Amino acid sequence: MSVIVVGAGPTGLALAGDLAGAGVPVKILERRAEESNLTRAFAIHARTLELLDMRGLADGLVAQGIQVPEVRPHIKGAELVFNMRHPDSRFPYVLILRQARTEAALEARARDLGVEIVRGAEVTGLTQDADGVTLTLGTGDSERADYVAGCDGAHSAVRRLLGVGFSGKSYDTRILLADVLLKRQLPLAVNPFIGDDGAALLPPYGDGWFRATIWDRTGQNVPIDEPVTIEEVRDSLRRIAGDDLGLAEMSWSTRFLSERRQARAYRVGRVFLAGDAAHVHSPLGAMGMSTGIQDAANLSWKLAAAHQGWAPSWLLDTYQSERHPVGRTVLRLTDLLRRLADAPAPVRLLRPYIAPAIINHPKVSEKARLTLSGLGIHYPVPDGTLTSPLAGHRMPDLQLGTGRLYERMRGRFLLLDATTAHQAATPWHDRVDVLRTDDPILYGTATTMLIRPDGYLAWTATRPDPQHIRQALRQWCGAAR
Ligand SMILES: Cc1cc2nc3c(=O)[nH]c(=O)nc-3n(C[C@H](O)[C@H](O)[C@H](O)COP(=O)(O)OP(=O)(O)OC[C@H]3O[C@@H](n4cnc5c(N)ncnc54)[C@H](O)[C@@H]3O)c2cc1C
Repeated sequence: MSVIVVGAGPTGLALAGDLAGAGVPVKILERRAEESNLTRAFAIHARTLELLDMRGLADGLVAQGIQVPEVRPHIKGAELVFNMRHPDSRFPYVLILRQARTEAALEARARDLGVEIVRGAEVTGLTQDADGVTLTLGTGDSERADYVAGCDGAHSAVRRLLGVGFSGKSYDTRILLADVLLKRQLPLAVNPFIGDDGAALLPPYGDGWFRATIWDRTGQNVPIDEPVTIEEVRDSLRRIAGDDLGLAEMSWSTRFLSERRQARAYRVGRVFLAGDAAHVHSPLGAMGMSTGIQDAANLSWKLAAAHQGWAPSWLLDTYQSERHPVGRTVLRLTDLLRRLADAPAPVRLLRPYIAPAIINHPKVSEKARLTLSGLGIHYPVPDGTLTSPLAGHRMPDLQLGTGRLYERMRGRFLLLDATTAHQAATPWHDRVDVLRTDDPILYGTATTMLIRPDGYLAWTATRPDPQHIRQALRQWCGAAR
């Protein structure tokens, strides 16, 4: 087997699907014998929807969810508006959708592409040598692969077996999670209510049901495994939001403690960590699953390039140098949001002034929007590659004569060219698609753009010499066949 993915959560399913789509033999080992009925993520952010769009999955998910263009924090009776209407994305909103639906779509795609998913297979041992990785299962059987991706969640066995530190801390405040039916009409928004006793986040599922995530400081001593009652949720809402918002029913609930931790290394030899195995943080910001799917999109084409034998020597290491800083930023932002929501008394007094100052400050709120949505992510230019003004930045979707750009992105490099210079790319046709367009200028002042399989720009130029195209292709895609 070329790649074994450990864990069939959203990260592992996305990664395995991409690898299979690139022709890499891949298998998922999943500890659970049955699919999980736990509902955790409720939101997908714009950049992740764009990545799913490049995989032909976004429209189907959008049709099942509800589009929420705003976050409306309610603080002591005042309502603020934080805009998520991204001007240059096809997805100018947060999509509210139960995690199980996203996982179902990713699993169906992975299976269609030929991924074998082995359930009831718990990884308990791992050794690696120069040629591959051997995994031991709870049954005593073993499996061997060229590469292994540990997508096995916050308590990752792969991370533990590698001996990689997971530094950070656990938060003290217990979080109540519940799916609730509210009779009160709330704005079509993610609605955080922030009060002296804590915070309650209420994104709508669109059918009268809401996901309630509640940080209630008064419930600190309740044992973590004690069941959550509807009366407890009602009491928390009354104290935090001012009334119970017409709470009528509760279908599911749990109590948990969140953590803020990040793996020190995302790669050890032939083994990689992705998703919650690499980073966990507060659910405020709703960024965990989105970040895991982005990890998968970043890693998959690099592993495929290694399997196909054309990966430049530095390519696999860029998974760490590109994704570790993104994880760190997500941890910082979610920690800041949690501090504001669950603030100590002096900060609570200032909160009615701090929150509007942040939300109404154009530059600060723009940066927060780009970070939350993932649209602001960009990667450093690898040493020794040609630099260009837009290199490392997200390539937005473009309407081209022949359709949308993202419809043409299917896990391979794409050379988009408004000149005739693309002819220089013919010797790389086994790994680079060429899209010729009549639009004179594509983006910024660029006429020629080399787009990575994950939708970021490797290199751009204005009316380049064919020699430069060959140089950029050699650097990113290896020697021509
Ligand atoms: C309350 C809450 C709300 C959240 N809301 C959001 C949100 O709105 N948006 C968002 O983006 N994220 C959200 N998240 C985070 C999101 O749920 C996680 O980030 C996401 O599930 C991580 O996916 P994953 O595939 O990396 O890990 P997981 O979903 O944890 O999957 C890991 C898989 O690995 C398997 N496994 C574990 N150990 C082994 C082993 N030894 N061998 C084989 N298999 C193994 C597990 O059974 C599991 O199936 C939320 C989380 C919580 C707790």
